Formats: sequence, C-alpha cells, structure tokens
Amino acid sequence: MRDRIAAACLAAGRAADAVTLVAVSKTHPTEAVIAALAAGQTMFGENRVQEAATKFPGLRAGNPAMKLHIIGGLQTNKARDAVRIADMIDVLDRPKLADAIADAIQREGRSPDLLVQVNVGDEAQKAGIPTAEADGFIATCKARFGSKLAGLMCIPPADGDPAPHFAWLAACAARHGLRVLSMGMSGDFESAIARGATHVRVGTAIFGRRE
Ligand SMILES: *Cc1c(COP(=O)(O)O)cnc(C)c1O
Repeated sequence: MRDRIAAACLAAGRAADAVTLVAVSKTHPTEAVIAALAAGQTMFGENRVQEAATKFPGLRAGNPAMKLHIIGGLQTNKARDAVRIADMIDVLDRPKLADAIADAIQREGRSPDLLVQVNVGDEAQKAGIPTAEADGFIATCKARFGSKLAGLMCIPPADGDPAPHFAWLAACAARHGLRVLSMGMSGDFESAIARGATHVRVGTAIFGRRE
C-alpha cells in the first residue's frame, strides 16, 4: 500500500511523504489493527464512535503514536464521545453538529482537528454539506474553531470519474486556506493524490473485504 501511494506521489510530481495513509479498520477485529500497528501503521479510521471506543483506548496505552480519525456519519448525541477519543473528526457537515462539537470540546477540554465534509456530488442519500452551502459553512466553522478547522473531506459519487470532484474540493480548500484534504479510498486514491489529497482513507485494499 505504501509503495502504491509513493508511486502515485511520484507520478503527480509530489514528495513521497506528502500523503498520509489512514487505514480504515471499521468492521475488522482488533487483531487486524494490531497487525497493522506491527507493520508500522499508526493512523486509523473508524466509522462508528462506539466501535472505535471498544477497539482503540486499550491499544493506545501501548502505542502512544497511534492516531484515530472518525470518518463515518456522526450523530449529535455521539459528538462528545467522538471528541473524547478522536484525533481528527472528518465529518463535520451541518450547523447542529458544529454546535454539538463546540459544546463537547468545552466539556471535555480536548480539541480534535476537524474537517468539513462536502457532498461534492450533491447526492440526496449522502452526508456532507451541499456544494452551494459549502463556502458559507466553512467560513463559519473557521471563525468558530480557528486553526482546529484543518481542512475538507469528500466521498465522490460511486459512478463516474471522481477527478473533477477531487479537483473541486482542492480548489475549495485553497480558497479557504485549509491544509488538509482527506479524499481517496481503495478504488480511487491514485486519482485523489493526483489532485492534491493529503490523507487517503483506505480500507479494503489493506484489510480485505468487509462482511
Ligand atoms: C469505509 C470507508 C472508507 C474506506 O473504503 P475502502 O473502499 O474500503 O477503501 C473510506 N472513507 C469512508 C468515509 C468510509 O466509510
């Protein structure tokens, strides 16, 4: 996996260490995470706060370099648990969730990095702020969270070429002076790296198929 990322960086004229791999371990057992840790992987992504909370805290004690991204749709009533355990929350996508996260940061005295998720394909079934509202929402979040608002995240439509969506997100991040671009999964991370991804979220290509 690391070789494929380095090759994609080279092809895009970017430094081999310009892209961070987030290993998406959702649905896979703790043993799979332990094996990845042994292979030198430190950054992981989980969809469900509950699942992350059972898998990660125990491992962290022995692996202080370990980092956790929450990458799946977050309910407001789970915001506090997410703020407690995550290093980055990739899925800030609506004002109510921004309120819940701000409240949780205050109560927990802990402040993960945040990414605004944009629904780049404006798909009805998908999470993310609609593209037409993205600039306004990002500006509001930046004013509210300051440098803790680190960047943007997207999941492009499953059909069609993801490249224009990745390029759209990169332009949007540049407009707002944001440094992190979490985009690209097992099927499209090379295209995302060519468009400036700083973090790729890869599950299947590392851990195999999910049940
Ligand atoms: C599951 C998931 C991934 C990883 O997808 P793969 O196709 O298995 O690499 C990445 N991002 C999000 C938000 C996911 O839910």
